[in-house]
Amino acid sequence: MSKVTKSIKAMFAMKCPKCHEGNLFDNPSSLSLKKPFDMPDNCNVCGQKFEPEPGFYFGSMFVSYIMTAFFSLFVIGICIFVFDLSVNVSLFILVLLMAVLFIWVFRFARSVWINLMVKHDPNFRK
Ligand SMILES: [Zn+2]
Repeated sequence: MSKVTKSIKAMFAMKCPKCHEGNLFDNPSSLSLKKPFDMPDNCNVCGQKFEPEPGFYFGSMFVSYIMTAFFSLFVIGICIFVFDLSVNVSLFILVLLMAVLFIWVFRFARSVWINLMVKHDPNFRK
């Protein structure tokens, strides 16, 4: 598996960008409502800091914004052009979907952001 494929896999699995083993979030399930946004200070496997500097995750808002915008266009397009629904019904469906996916989008945006900023180190064990 190439480096990029491994990093993309780590993003979706919400694993530490350095070792691809430790969990980025205290609660590994994006479907659970129990403290879904809490992150440990450091990776429990390699010790990588999960907030390298104050306000580090500010940039993940842009990742989240771009993903949400394209997803919204896609959903509205499918609803209107494929299922021939009205704009109001399409927007209602979109709002419901976003309410369900909100936690996953938030966590995934952070995972993408830290994976873009921190390099994978296959020799993290010394
Ligand atoms: Zn790690």
